This record gives sequence, C-alpha cells and structure tokens, in this order.
Amino acid sequence: MKELAQIASAIQASKTMAIDTLAKQMKADGIDVIGFGAGEPDFNTPDHIKAAAELAIINNVTRYTPASGTAELKQAVCQRMREDCGLDYKPSQVIVSSGAKHCVYIALRALVNPGDEVILPAPYWVSYLELIKMMGGVPVVVSAEESAGFKMTAEQLAASITPKTKALILNNPNNPTGMVYSKEELRAIAKVCVEQDIYVISDEVYYSLLFDGVEWASFASLGEDVKERTILVNGVSKSYAMTGWRIGCALASEKITKVMANFLSHSTGSPSSVSQAAAVAALTGSQDCVETMRQAFEERRNYIVERVNAMDGVSCIKPEGAFYIMMNVKRLLGRTICGEKIENDDDFCSALLKHGLVATVPCSSSGAPGFVRWSYSASVENIRKGMDRLEKFLKEEPTV
Ligand code: GLU
Repeated sequence: MKELAQIASAIQASKTMAIDTLAKQMKADGIDVIGFGAGEPDFNTPDHIKAAAELAIINNVTRYTPASGTAELKQAVCQRMREDCGLDYKPSQVIVSSGAKHCVYIALRALVNPGDEVILPAPYWVSYLELIKMMGGVPVVVSAEESAGFKMTAEQLAASITPKTKALILNNPNNPTGMVYSKEELRAIAKVCVEQDIYVISDEVYYSLLFDGVEWASFASLGEDVKERTILVNGVSKSYAMTGWRIGCALASEKITKVMANFLSHSTGSPSSVSQAAAVAALTGSQDCVETMRQAFEERRNYIVERVNAMDGVSCIKPEGAFYIMMNVKRLLGRTICGEKIENDDDFCSALLKHGLVATVPCSSSGAPGFVRWSYSASVENIRKGMDRLEKFLKEEPTV
C-alpha cells in the first residue's frame, strides 16, 4: 500500500492527553494513582450552565448551527470580552469552534503557508509545536529561561525574525509555566510584531485565572495596529470548568474570521448546538463561579509552591496565573531513585508514576528539558497526597 501523508505521519501524539488517558486508565484498573497531568479543572460545571444545556435539549436545540457558531454565542463572547478585557469586537469578528485548541488550529490554517516560520516561545504548550508542523509550517523555538521568569523578551523575538516569519504564538497566562507577561513586556513584543509585520495568535484561555492581583492585559488591547494583526483565542473550558463541552472562540479582523469560518464550514460543520447554549449561559450568567474557582486555585498554588520548595532536589518559581507549576528537577539528573536511573525529565516522570503513583508531565515535550509540569487542578486533599508521595519518592520510599 502507498505511504500515508508525510506531514500527518510526522505528528507526535499529545503528551498531556496521553498521560491523562494513562492515569485515568490506571484509576479504572483500581490503581490509586493521582493525576496531575492534564490541565483540567476538577470542579463540576456550574449548575446554571448545565441547566441551560438541559433546556436546550428539551427545546430541541439539537440541529446544525451556523458553521462558525450561533449569533447568540458570538454576541455573548463580544460582551464578555468587552467587560473583562476592554475589547471592542463585532459578532462578525468572532468564530466559535470545538475548543480553544481547534481555534489555534484554524488560526494557523488561516495564516500559514507551507514553509512559513512561526515563532514559538518555550516553554510552550505541547500542541502548538505539532499544530505548526501540521500546516507544513516551520516552528522557530525561542527559549525563555527560568531565571527570566520563563518569558521571552522583545529582543529575543526580534533576533528570531527572518523574511519567512509569518506569526508568533503567545500564550498568556502561560501553559506550562503559569507565568504572566506584564503590559510593558507585551508592549515591547507588540512593537516588534508591528514593525516587522508579523501576525500574533494570542491564546488567552487562562485569563480569568490570575493571582496576587497581578496586572494582565489582552494582547489585542494594546492598540488598533496590534489588534488588526492579532487572532485572539479564548474558550470556556478553564474559566467555567467546561473542558468536555469543547467550546472555544477566536476574535480577529473580519478578513481573517471570514477565512476561518469558510474553513470551518467544510471541516467541523458546526460546534455542538447544546454546548453552545451552555456557553451562552456561562458567558452571560453570574461570574461568581469564576471567582470562586480562581480563589481555590490561588490557595492550591500557594500550597504546592511551598511544599515543592521545601523539598531537597526540586524547586519551582511562583507562577502568577493558570494552574500549573514547572518543577525544576535538574539537580536530580544522574541520580538513581527507587532503583530507577534518572537521566532526564521523562525518566523522572516515569519513575514517579511507577513508584509514587503520581502522574505529571515531562517538560522536554514543552521545549523545557529538566522540568516537570504539575497541573494543580486537583482537590486540596489530592495535592497534599501527591506532595506527600513526591516527598517519599525523593527519600527513596516508594508508595508501591
Ligand atoms: N490544555 C490542557 C493541558 O495542557 C488540556 C490537555 C491538552 O489539550 O493538552 O493539559
């Protein structure tokens, strides 16, 4: 038989999804594993959102919707972006699709020709790299060090631009680092993007999860010249505990959203009608649930950061948003723990899963070897248990 497509065959499976699936399977098999792999809030979707979905089913809102989302949901997205981010978009500048991940995919589809370079600051979310490759694009990874708060500088960005550069993917607050770019840092980056004429896909899906009152600004809010070259990606998964409903959105100039909508009309058909009705309720209803969850995440962050930094051999900087920490394991490399030789972060995560029954994500898949991502979107009790297990593991005392 003939070969499968080269581009598709070269794509790696998502590490975060694979680890989450493995942890869920181990649990289903009766193994007492604690999952810190996937970035998925442990909270249930709030009741008023679920009620809106029930009502949609009862009222037979069960048919195709416009390919790029219902008018009602686009309106709700515009309203929420206005209230939360001070952004002024028209519904025609919005597309809705099956999750923020798919919106990044469609955004890249709209921008990238084969051979175009896309700048990706590392540490990056695992899927960005593969998504760029799926377009036949060339990822240009720019490493941001832990000592720089894992944040790419405008100087680093400028130095990585070539005549083939088409776009930058920015993720703020960041997955996997949890770090937040200040308005000043963003302005410096935006200046380079405008001067060098490159597009920006700004994934802001964690924008409601900010801690310590940190200042945050949407990239698109930095000026009209910045907004017109920005595709802003957002979604309801993280803010409203709605990962399984698969609703994300992108906001951009009409020229761009038209191309994205055309693409959607031939690919997904439309996002789930019931999920869209639920998303309208999420965006237009009381936002108290968002704040309640944010506060819980902040408490968990404080706890996990304190515990990690109190242990020998590992450390982490204190993130200001999202629900991840990057644990530095570089001092452990070369050691043998619980009979396992730890040469890299992959070895560490495998050994911790095997002997500590704790699932975490090795960050070499995020362009940051020597680090391990913990998603603290787990209950306080599970975080405490997970930290106890890590502590025991580091002292060569296996949980199993
Ligand atoms: N974005 C989340 C994560 O990084 C969900 C899983 C995924 O889509 O990668 O864990």
